[in-house]
Amino acid sequence: MRDLTACPECDLLLNSTHVTATKGGATCPRCAAELFRRHPDSLERSLALTCAALVLLFLANSFPIVGLNIQGHQVETTLFGTARQLWRDDMPIVAVLLLATTVVIPLVEMLAMAWILFPLRFQRRPPGFALLIRALQLAHPWAMVEVFILGVLVSLVKLSHLADVLPGPAIWCFGALMLVLAALSTVLDHRTLWQSWERAA
Ligand SMILES: [Zn+2]
Repeated sequence: MRDLTACPECDLLLNSTHVTATKGGATCPRCAAELFRRHPDSLERSLALTCAALVLLFLANSFPIVGLNIQGHQVETTLFGTARQLWRDDMPIVAVLLLATTVVIPLVEMLAMAWILFPLRFQRRPPGFALLIRALQLAHPWAMVEVFILGVLVSLVKLSHLADVLPGPAIWCFGALMLVLAALSTVLDHRTLWQSWERAA
C-alpha cells in the first residue's frame, strides 16, 4: 500500500515497480503528466528558505509598511498598527483576518516546517510528523501573503493621487517573503518529506 503513487491528472494508481523514475522525476505512463520532480538537496534548500522566511516575517512586522505625507503631515503604520486601527473602527473581523492570513498562519506554517525539516535533515524523525503534514495542508490555503501584497499595491497606487506615498521597509520584506515562499513550495514536496521520514531513525 505504501508504495502506491496516484497520477494527479488521470488518477491512475501505480505501484513503485511500474513508475519509471528518471534523474529529473517521473511521468504517468498513461497520460504523461508529471508524477513528481526531483530537486537536488531538497531538504537543505527548504530548511534555508524556511529560516529566510522566518527572518523576513519578523522584519516585515517590525517596520512600517507605508508612510503618507499629506501637506507636510507625515504618518506611517505597521501591520499591527493597521489591524489595531481596523479593530477600533468597528471592523474586528477584517482585523482578525488580516493578522491571521498575513502573520499568524504563515508564522505557524514556517515554525511547523522548521520543526519537521531540522530533525529530518539530521536523519531524525520529528514528533507529530504525520499530524503536522496534514495540518500544513489544511492551513496552507489560508496563508495569503501574495493577496495582501497585491491589495497593498493597489491601495498605494490609488492613494498616490491624494498624498505622497512612501513605501516602508516592511513592504519590501513582504515582497521578498512572497518570493521565498514560492521558492519553498517549488523545492519541497510531500513525497520528499515522507521518503526522508521513512529513511530516518
Ligand atoms: Zn496520468
